[in-house]
Amino acid sequence: MLHSSIFKILLKMDECSTIIVVPHVCVLPRSMDNGCDHRSRRFAEIISSEISHSKLFIGDVARMKTDLNREEGKNTGMRRNLSAYMLKCSNNGSNSTVIDVHTFPRLGFDGFQNVQVLLIYERDSKLARLILRTLKKETKLRVEMVLGDGNNDIIIQAEKLNIQAVLIELINTMDVNDVKNIARIIRTII
Ligand SMILES: [Zn+2]
Repeated sequence: MLHSSIFKILLKMDECSTIIVVPHVCVLPRSMDNGCDHRSRRFAEIISSEISHSKLFIGDVARMKTDLNREEGKNTGMRRNLSAYMLKCSNNGSNSTVIDVHTFPRLGFDGFQNVQVLLIYERDSKLARLILRTLKKETKLRVEMVLGDGNNDIIIQAEKLNIQAVLIELINTMDVNDVKNIARIIRTII
């Protein structure tokens, strides 16, 4: 009896968590790191706290130095840890999900001026479509979905390993309660 519970605990430990990645953290004062996502770390931490057993990977390199969401970022410490974790999830057949969290300023995206949540996918739109549909149904947020430009290296890498992945851009000015609500909705989907 005792043995089987220990075995179950060990199995649980080996299961893969939801992977939350936040590559564009402002590690320097904002004026020195043009293009970093200054609310992304806070929002990713909120999302992570709403999704139990999620694993958070936080960027530690200034975006102006190396963009962790590009191929050039692959050899950084954060991307190497992320790669090792995703590989483990892929190899043990876990149904894992990658959520790549970004934030953007108002008027940050041409053509998406009124959008508060932008979902970006690269190869497989299934997860993004499901989140889009549910957020539109269950919140008043202005949500859109778009195909990425082929350079969102983190979600591309995840999908190559058969891990479903979506990049989520949240407007900087979003209320933390809306972020919590989005996380709770995503939790019911993944
Ligand atoms: Zn970003």
